[in-house]
Amino acid sequence: MRDFTLKSYKTLLLALQQSGYRFQSFEEWITVPAQGKTVVMRHDVDELAWNALKMAELENALDIRATYYFRVVKQSNVPEVIKQIADLGHEVGYHYEDLALEKGDEEKAMASFEKNLAYFRSFYPVRSVCMHGSSTSKYDNRLLWKNRQLQDYGLVGEPYLSVDFGKVFYMTDTGYAWDGGKYATRDIVESGFGLSFHTTQQVVDCIEQGTFPTKVLILAHTLWTDSFFQWVWLHFREFLRNHLKYWAKHSKVLAFFYEKLVLWYWKR
Ligand SMILES: [Zn+2]
Repeated sequence: MRDFTLKSYKTLLLALQQSGYRFQSFEEWITVPAQGKTVVMRHDVDELAWNALKMAELENALDIRATYYFRVVKQSNVPEVIKQIADLGHEVGYHYEDLALEKGDEEKAMASFEKNLAYFRSFYPVRSVCMHGSSTSKYDNRLLWKNRQLQDYGLVGEPYLSVDFGKVFYMTDTGYAWDGGKYATRDIVESGFGLSFHTTQQVVDCIEQGTFPTKVLILAHTLWTDSFFQWVWLHFREFLRNHLKYWAKHSKVLAFFYEKLVLWYWKR
C-alpha cells in the first residue's frame, strides 16, 4: 500500500482516536491543555494549499480540530483555501518567514510580520504563529522573538518556543518518512523519547500496542495525496530535493545553485 496518502492519514487519525487520544488545536493546547492522552495535529502549509483543504475536510469528518499555518507565498496563501479551512472549524495561524524575506533586517521584518499577521487575522482570529524553516536562508526566523514577547502581538504560542520537547513527543513527516528529519536544516527538535518510525503503519502499530507517548505534537505537511500521479511526482521531487539539500551542505557551488533554484520557485 502507498504511504502518505489521505487513506493512510485516515488510518493514523483513526488509530489515535480509537486509542483514546484527544485532539486539540495548538492554541487550545497552550491555553487549556487537556488531561491524559492528547495530540496536536499541526500542518505547515508550505505549498500545495489545496491538499491542505482535503486533509482539513477529512479531519472535520472525524470531528478533529487541527492547526494550519499558512505562508505568504502564493503556493500557500490561497484565500479560498484559508477561508474554507477556517470555516471547517480548524485553527489558522501564520507560518512566518519575515526575517528571511527581509534578509535579516529586524525593523523591516517586524513591520512585515505585523502586516501579514493582520492579513491572516482577516480569516481567523490568529493566536499562534509558527516559524518557517527557510532552509536556504542564513536567517533563523525565530530570532524575531529574541527581544520581543508573543503576548504583545496578541499571540499565545509558537510551537518552537512554547513547547517543552522533553515532555512532548514530536513527530514530523519531513521527506515522506517519519524519520526523515536528518534532511531538515533548521526545523529540528531534539527528543528524548528514543522512538523512531519510518512508515505510518509503524506509527499505527505503536499506537495500537499502547506504547505511543501520551503527549504528542505531529507535524504533517501537505504532500499527502490520493492522486497517483501527484504522489509519484512528489516522491520523486522529495527524493531529489533531500539529496540536493544534503549535498549542498558539502559543496559551495551546489549550495549556490540550489539556493537560486529555491528562490526562483518561491518567488512571490
Ligand atoms: Zn515551513
